[in-house]
Amino acid sequence: MNVATAPVLMADQGRTIDPDEEAAFLDAIDRWLERSVIPVVMHHDHGDIWPAKLVDEMAEMGLFGATIGQEYGGLGLPATTYAKIVMRISSYWMAITGIFNSHLIMAAALERFGTPAQKSKWLPKFASGEIRGGLALTEPNAGTDLQAIRTVAVRDGDDYVITGTKTWISNALNGSCFALLVKTDPAANPRYQGMSLFIADKRAGEAGAGFTTGKKFEKLGYKAIDSAELIFDNYRIPADQLIGEVEGQGFFQATGGLELGRINVAARGVGLAEGSLRLATTYAQQRETMGKPIAQHQAIQLKLGEMVTRARAARLLTMDAAEAYDRGDRCDMEAGMAKFFASEAAVENSQDAMRIYGGYSYSKEYDIERYYRDSMLMCIGEGTNEMQRMIIAKQWLKANPI
Ligand SMILES: Cc1cc2nc3c(=O)[nH]c(=O)nc-3n(C[C@H](O)[C@H](O)[C@H](O)COP(=O)(O)OP(=O)(O)OC[C@H]3O[C@@H](n4cnc5c(N)ncnc54)[C@H](O)[C@@H]3O)c2cc1C
Repeated sequence: MNVATAPVLMADQGRTIDPDEEAAFLDAIDRWLERSVIPVVMHHDHGDIWPAKLVDEMAEMGLFGATIGQEYGGLGLPATTYAKIVMRISSYWMAITGIFNSHLIMAAALERFGTPAQKSKWLPKFASGEIRGGLALTEPNAGTDLQAIRTVAVRDGDDYVITGTKTWISNALNGSCFALLVKTDPAANPRYQGMSLFIADKRAGEAGAGFTTGKKFEKLGYKAIDSAELIFDNYRIPADQLIGEVEGQGFFQATGGLELGRINVAARGVGLAEGSLRLATTYAQQRETMGKPIAQHQAIQLKLGEMVTRARAARLLTMDAAEAYDRGDRCDMEAGMAKFFASEAAVENSQDAMRIYGGYSYSKEYDIERYYRDSMLMCIGEGTNEMQRMIIAKQWLKANPI
């Protein structure tokens, strides 16, 4: 069994929001982008500097609890509203959405599968942003093939003792708490039956001993948000931090949020595709060659025509998947198509925008090069686009037997 065939779990679907309330929230996001984010993007992106002030403001706006239930202090937003927020922010700076996005996937795993005691202990602190973190699944030898992970948890009295290394973990340095996927039965066959998911908090003190941060990656893009290794060396964790307090459910708990995760990545792709289009549209009408704006040349119009269409199609596919999710429908194929198409649209639109900018695309004085560097990540995260196409095809064939 792999991610493609994992059962689909939809425990938090069915949330709704009043249209006026949604409009007010989106308006607040726009004002925040204008006031706080746009003026500092280049500073943080070029210097790979953690945006501490923006993180505090995100917490004040409730973004760390955006999809967490209101009973735990979150905003309880539906997937459609959340997707619109992610699109807007990503159209100016995609990377900062990763600070609350990975955190919310961790929270969703706990909200879906945790015990009542675990939920009331952790979720209010996740929602306020007092505790922030992410998802620790990938290992040096295991990304797509998650069932090949080697991190092991061994039961010892009221604790488990965990040893292993996670890699490429978003928020690893600046977050403290992670949904940590391990093997509790490395010999299990099928392999997924031996996997379990913990809530692991590395904050200083006895509880965090044996849980440290390793190498931080120098990346092409997705700057300012840290991606690093997490190292577990005989890390002792209380057994009541095993999500659901049942062994063997970790694979499904970790991949059960895939639909929402794919909608999130799709929304980031839409933002990048729309942002690239916005920049290229302005530039093409300002820059002149042969006595007229380059937007008047047919070669540029061909590009703009394709870019507008891609951005629109990516948005429609993403909203279609988010609406299906909010209705409570099974939508793994829709979410997969949205993720695949929107991430490719981001790459293609940012490349076309680079061509429209000509030589200036290569200058760090302009924003467009950041979109070019950031967009490729969307094709990798939350299931590579190679896997995505195979998942879509398998489901299509299953639904259309001869
Ligand atoms: C910036 C960044 C942030 C990240 N953040 C996180 C995070 O917060 N938490 C986390 O757990 N992980 C994170 N990751 C890891 C990410 O999820 C993995 O990189 C991704 O799952 C791919 O795994 P891999 O890199 O090991 O590639 P591999 O699995 O080695 O794949 C390599 C290539 O082979 C293809 N391939 C693999 N298997 C098959 C197959 N069966 N059939 C066809 N093609 C196949 C893939 O599509 C890909 O093209 C992050 C990665 C990056 C770059």
